[in-house]
Amino acid sequence: MLNALQNRIIIHPENCRGCRRCEMACAWTDQGLVNPRLAGIRIWKLEDEGKDYPVFNQLCLDSFCGKELPEERGSGVPACVGSCLFNALEMAGGNGNE
Ligand code: SF4
Ligand code: SF4
Repeated sequence: MLNALQNRIIIHPENCRGCRRCEMACAWTDQGLVNPRLAGIRIWKLEDEGKDYPVFNQLCLDSFCGKELPEERGSGVPACVGSCLFNALEMAGGNGNE
């Protein structure tokens, strides 16, 4: 199990496109359901600024949740980070797949 420091997730909001893949990957990996309400990450839409902003719940930031994409099992990269195609989410120390 990775500790909190190793699991630190860095957010680059300027790269977020609001696609919500991260939300769906989290919910699907845990529940087998495509329901963003079950995810530990939420994408806040800042309508006035035309931007999207990823926000994690504190549990996600405190320790590794254990959810990984099937193709990334054993990497220690959470499903939300592994599913982001735009480098808006990153693990401190790299995502292990570069
Ligand atoms: S953080 Fe990544 S996967 Fe999530 S909405 Fe933004 S661009 Fe999409
Ligand atoms: S860290 Fe884990 S629980 Fe939190 S949003 Fe990412 S995949 Fe979901």
